[in-house]
Amino acid sequence: MLRLVVALAIAGVVLPAPPVDARPSSSSSKQAKKKKKKQKKRSSRSTRSTKRTKANLPKGYVWPPNARMKAQGKACREELDTLGVAWKKADKLGKVANPVWVPAMEIGGIKFVSYFRKPPFTIDCQLVSTLAKIAPALVELGVREIKFSSFYRNTKVRVGGKTKNLLSRHALGLAMDVISFTDDTGRVVVVKTDYPGGDPLLLAVEDLVNSSGMFRLVLTPKNDPRSHHDHFHIEAAVDYAR
Ligand SMILES: [Zn+2]
Repeated sequence: MLRLVVALAIAGVVLPAPPVDARPSSSSSKQAKKKKKKQKKRSSRSTRSTKRTKANLPKGYVWPPNARMKAQGKACREELDTLGVAWKKADKLGKVANPVWVPAMEIGGIKFVSYFRKPPFTIDCQLVSTLAKIAPALVELGVREIKFSSFYRNTKVRVGGKTKNLLSRHALGLAMDVISFTDDTGRVVVVKTDYPGGDPLLLAVEDLVNSSGMFRLVLTPKNDPRSHHDHFHIEAAVDYAR
């Protein structure tokens, strides 16, 4: 048959199109519409992971965590001990793979102070260890205190003033939103008011975090003025496929 088709094609003969499948009956088309509607409704729910929300998840991330992620979590907690971070295993929360608490909210000589939320603050171990690793360089820049508005939040990505159908890294406990930094002289540098004027400490922190290779790009009033005009969004770069 194939040979015949090729021969006819060479000869410039056009074969009639194969018969079109019978159109779905009106009842099954209704059902398809219902299904579509249901899917649409589902995708707008904030907590549900869909194909699209999965697109923003870290490499190798699965829920529930697989053996590899669990092994990485164990290694991470051991690393916290090595880095000298006093931590506690936290209660399960959302889709945080390795939830921990840092009771003193002090990591590598930097105090983390909540802007308005109450403790305990559940953070993924990977973010804590990443912060502990960059802390000495932040201290070197003069940072002594970081005021945050949130770590964990069950939320979707919000950029450019729009909420996207992508699960935020806050929902995984891997991100924090920073309102201000306090330096070794007690000066409070506020992202909202001091970043537009190019405060050197804020620019130095942004540069350090971005060039460290340990975090994803910091979202700032400069690269996302609509949704990040008053805070830095800092999130650990995690690879669970390792
Ligand atoms: Zn954020």
